[in-house]
Amino acid sequence: MKRIAILGSTGSVGVNACRVAAALPDRIEVTALAAGRNTALLIEQARQFQCRTVAIQDPALKPELEQALPGCRVLCGPEGLIELVKAADVDMILCAIVGTAGLLPVMEAVRAGKEIALASKEVMVMAGEPVMDLVKAKKSVLIPVDSEHSAIFQCLNSLDSSRAANLILTSSGGPFRKASREVMEKATFEQALAHPVWSMGQKISIDSATLMNKALEMIEAHFLFDCPEERIRVLVHPQSVIHSMVEFPDGVVLAQLGVPDMRFPIQYAFTWPDRVDGGLERLDLAKIGHLDFEEPDTERFPALDLAREAIRAGGTMPCVMNAANEAAFVRFKNGEIGFTDIIAVIEKTMEQHNNIRNASLDDILEADRAARAFAASVRRGS
Ligand code: NDP
Repeated sequence: MKRIAILGSTGSVGVNACRVAAALPDRIEVTALAAGRNTALLIEQARQFQCRTVAIQDPALKPELEQALPGCRVLCGPEGLIELVKAADVDMILCAIVGTAGLLPVMEAVRAGKEIALASKEVMVMAGEPVMDLVKAKKSVLIPVDSEHSAIFQCLNSLDSSRAANLILTSSGGPFRKASREVMEKATFEQALAHPVWSMGQKISIDSATLMNKALEMIEAHFLFDCPEERIRVLVHPQSVIHSMVEFPDGVVLAQLGVPDMRFPIQYAFTWPDRVDGGLERLDLAKIGHLDFEEPDTERFPALDLAREAIRAGGTMPCVMNAANEAAFVRFKNGEIGFTDIIAVIEKTMEQHNNIRNASLDDILEADRAARAFAASVRRGS
């Protein structure tokens, strides 16, 4: 029986994680949950799993939870998350909080000897070096939940990535795979949200439309698998059946295939190293008929080159790219900037940043703050 805390339980990944846990009652016990503001769903989930601890971002919502969940410890704010991950009745935490709010809880959980299932790619992009240093020092288990990284983790099968020739991240291409530059310039928030394959939270859906999602994943792969930028490739594969691949020096390529459903990588992380039948849909390749592939268009999607630049620069640059993207997402959502301005804002923020190599966690947190402030106000044409 593994006792799991789900951080971000009310989001797209969090809800899927609850479904995985509910389907495997003999193996998984959900002991703690954390969410941002959605008290109604958090209460429902906490009752379903009879959780002993819950945490909510907004302290004003604590009394509502205390009243609805007698006998359950209710924590709040960033300190509440830190306390939750250290709870004695937690073996593994799933971090599925959107953005970087999961960084400090993840580091605290590693220090406390907990296993980590990591969905929040922004955490690895922002602070990949300190997180991985800590994971290695503590000999912790960190299992990626992002479907591409779960696929690479499975294909490497405990081999060091230096034994691979290339890591090949697949990308669906997003909703604007075939769109002209003119169409992309005029794209609305709703159009950009409409992902052709995956049903996900708003932020990652917009990231998928700009291909920033793939850019973040390249950086995530760089840190997770200790792989240089030139050996990380991106291949557009619209059906998203191959979740990623590893090419070995002899030319052999191992791929991981499955129905595009986040419950697969979540379940794999929860049950690793075992594989169990969680009642998920089986892949029917004959029904799918054919799988397509194409090179990504880096002219229309400059995010991929920005990621390469950030990896090569190292230091605080990946964090700055991520922070600028989060700020630009909010501005696009609020109608303040257009779809193609998102990348322009990120480029400008990266350009003005004085990179700090061998950055400490404090350097990273300060670079994150400064980049968000700059990206939140930089003018489109400046
Ligand atoms: P959602 O926006 O659907 O959900 C985000 C979750 O985070 C919600 O539960 C939200 O709570 C919670 N949250 C936000 N801020 C805080 C905070 N400060 N403290 C505690 N909880 C907080 O996002 P997704 O599920 O789509 O994505 C989550 C992460 O997983 C992202 O990093 C994304 O990149 C990654 N990911 C997502 C995939 C997907 O299929 N969706 C696939 C692969 C990776 P509330 O709603 O209550 O406010």
